Amino acid sequence: MLNIGCHLSASKGYLNMGQTALSIGANTFQYFSRNPRGGNAKAFDADDAAALVALAGEHGFAPVLTHAPYTLNPCAASEATLDFAHRALSEDLARLEAFPGALYNLHPGCHVGQGVEVGIKKIAESLDAAMFPGMGTTVLLETMAGKGSEVGGRFEELREIIDRVRLSDRVGVCLDTCHVYDAGYDIAGDLDGVLTEFDRIVGLNRLRAIHLNDSKNPLGSRKDRHERLGFGSIGLPALSRIVNHPALRHLPFFLETPNELDGYRQEIALMREQYEK
Ligand code: FE
Ligand code: FE
Ligand code: ZN
Repeated sequence: MLNIGCHLSASKGYLNMGQTALSIGANTFQYFSRNPRGGNAKAFDADDAAALVALAGEHGFAPVLTHAPYTLNPCAASEATLDFAHRALSEDLARLEAFPGALYNLHPGCHVGQGVEVGIKKIAESLDAAMFPGMGTTVLLETMAGKGSEVGGRFEELREIIDRVRLSDRVGVCLDTCHVYDAGYDIAGDLDGVLTEFDRIVGLNRLRAIHLNDSKNPLGSRKDRHERLGFGSIGLPALSRIVNHPALRHLPFFLETPNELDGYRQEIALMREQYEK
């Protein structure tokens, strides 16, 4: 069975997201750990968390993906921004211990003029400060479009971060189809070639989740504007090859397309139809 879900609002709590996912034909979902624009997370509700774990178990959910807020920049130049990143990372990772085998998706960061090398070093230091021995969560570095000073637009950069992190066995990668396409990896024209390169540099064993998005812009545009599946430059045939690829088809897929709930329901049904049994 295809493991697929979409990004959901966390405003009504954990169990509500699980129920919403079921109502649209999903068997997983993604949500923001806190307001994407930053700030404090709401108080942790352990009963609500346990209710989601029970629901997910009952319905055979694939791993749920918790997305760090966009304002969390693990390689910020300013002390205050870096301090927020460290606090939010530590708090998020501590909370996720309530969810066995959780996945935590993180944008590696923006080096904001400090240079890629300084960025990579700071990202690894931030992860080292927040990760702890025995943790059950895997931190996923998201592949980025490479816009502005984003780190993580090249597979080599992700590899360097992983190599520097102390608990690197708890670090993986989430591949965003819109981002890698915008970064210049031609997953529409040469999926096998891109995956071979990913395997050589990062290792396919590190790949734990896929953000399944079409792109509003052409290959290599470095724009990062998501499009609904089949309405962008990647196109439905290529997205269909992605969910069916032998190296990918077992992974959880998360839609981050510009949709309301009903649009997500339709895209989930569409990709389930495309999935070969
Ligand atoms: Fe993201
Ligand atoms: Fe993404
Ligand atoms: Zn994006």
